[in-house]
Amino acid sequence: MAKYQKVKGTQDFFEKSILKLRYLENTMRRIAKNYGYNEIKTPIFEHTDVFVRIGDDSDIVTKEMYTFLDKGNRSITLRPEGTAAVVRSYLENKLYAKTSPMKLFYFGPMFRYERPQAGRYREFHQFGVEVFGKSTPLLDCDVIISANQIFQELGIKNYHLKINTIGDNESRKLYSEKLVEYFEEHINHLCSDCKRRINKNPLRILDCKVDGNNPIIKNAPKIHDFLNQESKDYFSEVLSILDYYQVDYIVDENLVRGLDYYTDLVFEFIIESNDELDGLAFCGGGKYANLVESFGGMDIPGIGYAIGVERLLSIVDSQDGWNDKIENDIDVLIISLDKLSKLKALEIAYLLRLHNIPTEIDYEHYTMKHQFKLADKLNPKFLIIIGEEERKNNIVSIKDNETKVEETISQEKIISYLKGKLL
Ligand code: ATP
Ligand code: MG
Repeated sequence: MAKYQKVKGTQDFFEKSILKLRYLENTMRRIAKNYGYNEIKTPIFEHTDVFVRIGDDSDIVTKEMYTFLDKGNRSITLRPEGTAAVVRSYLENKLYAKTSPMKLFYFGPMFRYERPQAGRYREFHQFGVEVFGKSTPLLDCDVIISANQIFQELGIKNYHLKINTIGDNESRKLYSEKLVEYFEEHINHLCSDCKRRINKNPLRILDCKVDGNNPIIKNAPKIHDFLNQESKDYFSEVLSILDYYQVDYIVDENLVRGLDYYTDLVFEFIIESNDELDGLAFCGGGKYANLVESFGGMDIPGIGYAIGVERLLSIVDSQDGWNDKIENDIDVLIISLDKLSKLKALEIAYLLRLHNIPTEIDYEHYTMKHQFKLADKLNPKFLIIIGEEERKNNIVSIKDNETKVEETISQEKIISYLKGKLL
């Protein structure tokens, strides 16, 4: 056993898994760019207050944050999510004075002290977008469609979009009052967390993770009976645009999402599968009318989502969806059969690498047998073979590893030969 082990709930990425992670990242970056988003990168840690703003009785803030005092006695927190930090940065850098809407995306690690299990880690990656400055059903749908396109392009099957409205501030207030009344009547049937939530944030009881199938929760009053006309109209316009674009969705009246900052629209993408991933959300988002203001900014609306990249990775794994998406990294292996040929091999490798052709050589063996073993491991597209004979005649033998066709070419022609074939 290794002397040191990784911290519980963290993962190493290497070989295939790092290629998968990067493939997902690159796909999401490309699509975000096509939709007009620009990247923002905020620090991995912030003053704790920044994250407390997302809801001082949310699960994240009460249980899941990695918080510590630094040597200057400041309370610092490893970011558990992206939105709060992006809002902080948006205001601090006066991005609101630039374009509106301001469309941003981020990618990076997040940290939450949670019980590790399938799809739940203590360090994980999120890819997310945030749009500030405009609130229209068309924009909201464009945001949802961008997430949907990511999952379509990745070839994900058997997922669905759950969507709901929790109304504007007025509707929400009325609904919250009704929920408090209702849950107080049934307080004995609630888990201890939910008991505490009744007066602080009754909506969050609907998102109970301890007992999601509790009939008391399932039969609670529904937001739709408390929506004012404006909220109703807004939501139905969103749904009709999604219909128009043939994006399938399920309206789930119990969907509220765990954070305080949402208003109106909330949504999640959920996977159906016959393993432990079943029912897991791999993307969550919504609109937030009050968040920027709660950070001391102006009354600026926002909307965003965050994708759990590890969950996405496991889903593509479980659906065998990688096919040829994760590229073989080495294009050429140079096999050399004596000491001087090894020097020549390094020289040729140097040249190929200058031309952006990923190349490997064998550093120590002189036999074909050993070097073919390495070829089996690396599975390069081409093998170049160089021995005394080739060296003396300034030629190499070059073999297409797939078709097994072998040719002899002069050393000056290697680059043009490979460039023609590798395109
Ligand atoms: P859950 O309900 O599963 O706890 P959440 O509501 O806490 O999720 P968000 O804060 O909305 O999640 O984060 C967005 C996405 O990030 C989630 O849909 C999920 O895919 C991913 N995610 C959240 N927590 C974790 C975690 N601990 N490990 C891996 N991925 C996570
Ligand atoms: Mg959570």
